[in-house]
Amino acid sequence: MTMVTPASEAQREAWRSGGFPEVERVRPGLWSIPVPLPAIPLRYVLVYALELPDGVAIVDAGWNTEEAYGALAAGLKIAGYEMTDVKAVLVTHIHPDHYGLAGRIREVSGAWIGLHPADSRLLRDRYDDDAVDALVAQERTLLVRSGVPRETLDELAGASMMIRHYVTMAKPDRLIEDGDRLGLPGWDLRAIWTPGHSPGHLCFVEPERRLLFSGDHVLAKITPIVAVHPQSAPNPLADYLDALAAVRKFDVDEVLPAHEYRFLELAERVDHVMAHHEERLAEIETAVRAADGITCWDTATRLTWSRPWETIPSFMRRAANNETLAHLVWLEARDRLRRIPGEPDLWYPA
Ligand SMILES: [Zn+2]
Ligand SMILES: [Zn+2]
Repeated sequence: MTMVTPASEAQREAWRSGGFPEVERVRPGLWSIPVPLPAIPLRYVLVYALELPDGVAIVDAGWNTEEAYGALAAGLKIAGYEMTDVKAVLVTHIHPDHYGLAGRIREVSGAWIGLHPADSRLLRDRYDDDAVDALVAQERTLLVRSGVPRETLDELAGASMMIRHYVTMAKPDRLIEDGDRLGLPGWDLRAIWTPGHSPGHLCFVEPERRLLFSGDHVLAKITPIVAVHPQSAPNPLADYLDALAAVRKFDVDEVLPAHEYRFLELAERVDHVMAHHEERLAEIETAVRAADGITCWDTATRLTWSRPWETIPSFMRRAANNETLAHLVWLEARDRLRRIPGEPDLWYPA
């Protein structure tokens, strides 16, 4: 397996040993601030602070918890700033570990919040109490069509709704489109639209400093979840693979992801992630060919996961199902598989 070179040995070691990395100065005027996440294996999100003549801009924000707010404030202090000095919050995507604190930071600092329109559009349905029932109903339909057993349906359809409480419903002040130059003084930061993990995921490239802020799009070891769900694009895996190709062409020295640790080889890592999905597509196609009409759920149970299927908790099983569905949809679009729609849908070789 190809390994990427960590840009910070200390940060990689902290990740590997289950610890918590230090606040680090990445370059003059650029800081990495780990912000803790509540009770999920990722443990922390790496917030990047970019010094400006009159304050600081941050890439991503962390979950909306007291602990996270405190850690971000303490990290900014090491860099020489207060929360009130934040001028801009550039959010890579709307997941709560990235977007959760943005509204609270704006409240204390007056910072503007930037987000891609495709993620901004999802905010209300995702986090508004009135709209969320509709979202759960849509998820339920998707799971029925996937062939999820009746007895686990309710549990799976409602999974992850707790997460909403960690996010404040803050509307962005500025919509950031593909290719936009952010206009932060002292920084030539440009947005790259990288849909797949979320419909409006953004990366930011700094050509002069040869850096890529990759969010969850490209990480050193894990591959982000790319799944079909009620708020996803119809074929998110196709979007994701295209968006991997879109960042691969940038000639940068270092990748600054939102989790794990910073690393050096962007192109190699992208190739590895693409190869991973190719293998997964082949495995799923083989599973469907071996059966005479199979549901998405049954396909998912036959794949290799990081641990035995029986030990995967329900929230993760739903993600596994929806991830499998993303690969099935991709194969369907390429005429390698076909689906007979129903309750559930059944999958066959094309
Ligand atoms: Zn994410
Ligand atoms: Zn994340």
